[in-house]
Amino acid sequence: MQRLAILGSTGSIGTQALEVVQANPSLFRVEVLSAHSNSKLVIEQARAFKPSVVVITDETKYKEVKDALLMLQIKVLSGEQALVEAVQSDAVDIVVAAIVGFAGLRSTLAAVDAGKRVALANKETLVVAGEIVMKRAAEKNAAIIPVDSEHSAIFQCLVGEQPETIEKVILTASGGPFLGRKPNYLVNVKASHALQHPNWSMGAKISIDSATLMNKGLEMIEAKWMFNLTNEQVDVIVHPQSIIHSMVQFTDGSVKAQMGLPDMKLPIQYALAYPQRIPNTFKRVDFKEHSKLSFEPVDYKTFRNLSIAREAMERGGNAPCVLNAANEVMVTAFLQNRVGFLEMSDMIEKTLQSVSFIEHPQLEDCISSDIEAREIATEFVKKSQLSMY
Ligand code: NAD
Ligand code: MG
Repeated sequence: MQRLAILGSTGSIGTQALEVVQANPSLFRVEVLSAHSNSKLVIEQARAFKPSVVVITDETKYKEVKDALLMLQIKVLSGEQALVEAVQSDAVDIVVAAIVGFAGLRSTLAAVDAGKRVALANKETLVVAGEIVMKRAAEKNAAIIPVDSEHSAIFQCLVGEQPETIEKVILTASGGPFLGRKPNYLVNVKASHALQHPNWSMGAKISIDSATLMNKGLEMIEAKWMFNLTNEQVDVIVHPQSIIHSMVQFTDGSVKAQMGLPDMKLPIQYALAYPQRIPNTFKRVDFKEHSKLSFEPVDYKTFRNLSIAREAMERGGNAPCVLNAANEVMVTAFLQNRVGFLEMSDMIEKTLQSVSFIEHPQLEDCISSDIEAREIATEFVKKSQLSMY
């Protein structure tokens, strides 16, 4: 029986992780649940899964959750420090890191420091501080198992292989809702449109990132750190059907791909059960229905976020951290209709040019670069035509 802390339990990944637990009660038990502000859902989840601890990071929701769970003898805590302590508890074996954005960094690092297995959905953690996180994981013997479908695919392709035989990894990108579109169309798209992903149903932030291809940019950096690759070893190809979740090309020219229907429960389940595979009744791929799997190059000129992310990866230092912070500010502003779709790339690029470069950032530098980048990016947002109305 593995005891889980599910951080971000009210989100898209969090709720699907709970579905996996529910389907496998003899394998997994929920020990800790955490949410930011969705008190209603986390109360419902706590009633169903009876964890020992619930952490609600938004302190204004603390009393409501505490009162609701009083009779169930569930300990309710609030704030980020409580989250850190909860993941480090001896009663937790696996931490599902499914908080969105930079906000997930501290709790993920805490889990790593405590030597827990981390089922990592929060890709931003590796973008912001990949080198630091992977070094600490090695020191503390904490296994980081990917939940992101591309990285789960690569991880699965690498089972039984020697790391030095990797020639390159090929991340597949669906292309998002605006595949094939050009700037004259993208200039006017709104959040409601960008949120409609053709193959996956996900949280708002990653849905916008998928539409701009920043998601693939973040995933390149995530892959670099997770699999200890050089920049040149990380490649991207558009594969609109999202059946191949990613591939590894080896030094003998052989290529392995991992396939499946687009359903995040599969990589979540794999990360929780690895090295086992749990039988399930999820829908299977029927190749007669998916008779055409196609590939095409990325349109880097139109989807500039991916080129900007690659430049940040190649520049190294705190550049990916700045990229992430600027992007988080832009996505929030775009969701509120305060910046245009194409403006996001311009403003991220300008933020990267404005924040002081740190070649070998320590954790404190990542935190201060994040703050500085957010301030600068916020100033750019205020200057957008859309923000002025
Ligand atoms: P979501 O927006 O649906 O859920 C986010 C969760 O994080 C919620 O439970 C929320 O309460 C919590 N949260 C938000 N801000 C917080 C804060 N400041 N402090 C503490 N908790 C906070 O997001 P999601 O789509 O589930 O994505 C979660 C992570 O998983 C992201 O890093 C995303 O990139 C990654 N991911 C998601 C998918 C997917 O299919 N949704 C796929 C691959 C990777
Ligand atoms: Mg992904």
